[in-house]
Amino acid sequence: MEKVLLKNIDNPNSADIEEYLKAGGYKSLSRALGLKPKDVIEEVKKSGLRGRGGAGFPTAMKWNFAAADPKFPKYLLCNADEGEPGTFKDRPILEKNPHLLIEGMAISGYALGSEYGYVYLRGEYPHAKDVLNNAIKQAYEKNCLGDNIMGKGTRFHLAVYQGAGAYICGEETALIESIEGKKGQPRNKPPFPVNVGAWAMPTIVNNVETLSNIPCIIDMGGEAYSKIGSSDCPGPKLFCVSGCVERPGVYELPMGTSLKDIIYNHAGGIKNGRKLKAVIPGGISTPVLPADKIDCPMDFVAMLKAGSMLGSGAVIVMDESVCMVRITYRALKFFEHESCGKCVPCREGTVWLRKVLERIENGKGRQGDIELLSGVAGNIYGKTFCPLGDGAAGVVMGMLKHFRNEFEEHIRDGNCKFNN
Ligand code: SF4
Repeated sequence: MEKVLLKNIDNPNSADIEEYLKAGGYKSLSRALGLKPKDVIEEVKKSGLRGRGGAGFPTAMKWNFAAADPKFPKYLLCNADEGEPGTFKDRPILEKNPHLLIEGMAISGYALGSEYGYVYLRGEYPHAKDVLNNAIKQAYEKNCLGDNIMGKGTRFHLAVYQGAGAYICGEETALIESIEGKKGQPRNKPPFPVNVGAWAMPTIVNNVETLSNIPCIIDMGGEAYSKIGSSDCPGPKLFCVSGCVERPGVYELPMGTSLKDIIYNHAGGIKNGRKLKAVIPGGISTPVLPADKIDCPMDFVAMLKAGSMLGSGAVIVMDESVCMVRITYRALKFFEHESCGKCVPCREGTVWLRKVLERIENGKGRQGDIELLSGVAGNIYGKTFCPLGDGAAGVVMGMLKHFRNEFEEHIRDGNCKFNN
């Protein structure tokens, strides 16, 4: 498949607007401005594009809710807050192909009737901030952003807003709170941001990769785009592979490429000739899959059937030398730290899970600890205000389902047989 999202990133000047224009950049924006906004949304609908941030919600459906709301102004927010362990798929777009995102946002703003966009950028991406700000400046100079884009009477302004490094701000309503200058905590839903979002106005929050697909859809047409990848979830997808593989990195492949193919063909297989033990397929909050369950397509529907989730497409690979108790403990340290504290099951439950896992990991596990972990995780799952709680509980539940024996051995032996 010809690359769309990572096109030309091997060019050392790929972030420069001249290089982007030479490669046909901003032609989709010009074409989109010649269509009616509703026709742009119709192309996105035909494409079957689903959000790439993790939830997989149909993009055109979300857009239609906001476009139909008569309130003005409307805001377009790009979620560039990829803070989940294992997730770094948006980084190459932000750092090496920023004009693709800017073009996608300008087209989306036109379709939605939004004149103001923000890129909410992860606090730990300082280089991306510089690259994006420079690219936005260039886009203004070339009249691809501003009050009269390409002389066609369309207005769209764009700015970068850098977060302070809180994982919860990747949740769309917490992101909105943060961009309004408040503490980043999720809001009640409904009302949904498409109607009552930033500054109480209709707001669309889309992921970097989602918005970066828009120029391609306008260029090739929604119908042709829908033929790429799997029929349930068409289009190209970025998979970021980390852990025990020969070639970790970001791979652009058709949606629906099998997990096995990603690991063994694209990422070069398991490092040092070791055997695969398990894979977390979509970032640390998605349930673990044991080695015998990886021969399945990576898309939103198939991964659910396989017992996990596509999430962000962040594939974390663990070989036979990896201790699953330690992985679970580290994951819960992360969730405990990132819990925003708004609801009790997550705020208190993640502390309990981390404490019990810590003593098991340190050889001080007690009889009954596995049941305690199950009980606490069960009292978090489905009972929290936002998906962070489910993510934390899901990690523990998945690990106990597939690797309970390792927890039992740690408690029984009082030590860890793995040396990593
Ligand atoms: Fe905050 Fe956790 Fe509750 Fe989400 S689930 S609102 S992160 S305390």
